Amino acid sequence: MSDIEIPLSRPDITSLEEELVLQTLRSGRLSIGPRVEEFERSVAARAGSRYGVAVSSGTCGLHLVLKGLNIGPGDEVITTPFSFIASANCILYVGARPVFVDIDPKSLNMDPALVEAAITPRTKAILAVETFGNPQWMDTYAQIAARHEIPLIEDCCEALGTMHRGRPAGSFGRAGVFGFYPNKQITTGEGGMIVTDDPRLAEMCRSMRNQGRPLGWQPPGSGTIAVGMTSQSAGGQPGGSWLRHERLGYNYRLAELNAALGVAQMRRLDEIIEARQRVAQLYIHRLAGNPHLIMPTIDQDSVMSWFVFVVRLATSYTQEERDRIIRGMRNHEVGAADYFPCIHLQPFYREEFGYGPGAFPIAESVSQRTIALPFYNDLTPRDIEMVAQTLELMLKRENLSRAG
Ligand SMILES: *Cc1c(COP(=O)(O)O)cnc(C)c1O
Repeated sequence: MSDIEIPLSRPDITSLEEELVLQTLRSGRLSIGPRVEEFERSVAARAGSRYGVAVSSGTCGLHLVLKGLNIGPGDEVITTPFSFIASANCILYVGARPVFVDIDPKSLNMDPALVEAAITPRTKAILAVETFGNPQWMDTYAQIAARHEIPLIEDCCEALGTMHRGRPAGSFGRAGVFGFYPNKQITTGEGGMIVTDDPRLAEMCRSMRNQGRPLGWQPPGSGTIAVGMTSQSAGGQPGGSWLRHERLGYNYRLAELNAALGVAQMRRLDEIIEARQRVAQLYIHRLAGNPHLIMPTIDQDSVMSWFVFVVRLATSYTQEERDRIIRGMRNHEVGAADYFPCIHLQPFYREEFGYGPGAFPIAESVSQRTIALPFYNDLTPRDIEMVAQTLELMLKRENLSRAG
């Protein structure tokens, strides 16, 4: 995949990122330091939230939020079957049960009426995903959650910088979680960020990411961090809080090198979002008239920070045809992918919960016909023309073989 001519995605790394990562590398402070704190402040500010807690992946962040909200065995969490697997797996990590509801075929987010209908006395949270960065219905889910006095958890891993009715992704739920894998809007290599206005939840997540160290724990010498006198090398004061573990914790810390990369990426976020909007508009302009394709639908109240660009084949196409088109594009050196196969039809979920085809017909029908196209910040009009022509060629082939 990596040596394909037009890859599916590519991180946007400039000399600023190189400079900040190198500075951190030379500083000698490689964990629990100033870059993580700076990165937390900048992501929290962007998400309109008071607190940011950096973690080593989006998946870890979701795990900690569910734990921090005391969700566990016997509890149900309502979520979408049309997503990356982590948004459902995190519910299983804490021993709770994911209750899937079908999606709205336009936004590809959960149908709000079905969310409401799925609530039972065991429902302990709604875990909503801004699919492909689309924030539609987040305010509606928040209202439903408030009415039932349960928290909304926002898996905004695909939505950093997206706005809905003037509010940023990450600000709709009790907590939001961003992800920074290399195909996201910004990357730290691996990494994630919890954002919340709830000081208690933020402190619990901080403690759990750091091996269950006491609430309010500060690294020795923090504020005036000097190399050589800190927890990373000295182990902290004997009898102090470094080796005191008050709850079951994890090592979900984000390293300073990764945070330095994130700080640089955050400084460039506006430019990155604009570049992605430009590429998305070029695709829409080039492909919107094609009767074989359905373009992404963005409602007027949303300003997108695009994660990926996913088109859908018309309803007459089968999954086999779609898969053949994706393979054909790859053979022509153009990246393409089937974002996302339904979670409930993944082998593990079928075996564990007995799901089969037909359980969530809209999610299944959509997921059989999606094609993610190459999408990154410096994709040129020429590249887009090549992607479009390759896709059109594959569509023509399918139609010829149908006719024959
Ligand atoms: C990327 C992503 C995550 C988190 O992924 P990590 O690789 O663990 O950072 C979670 N949920 C969704 C919907 C995602 O797209």
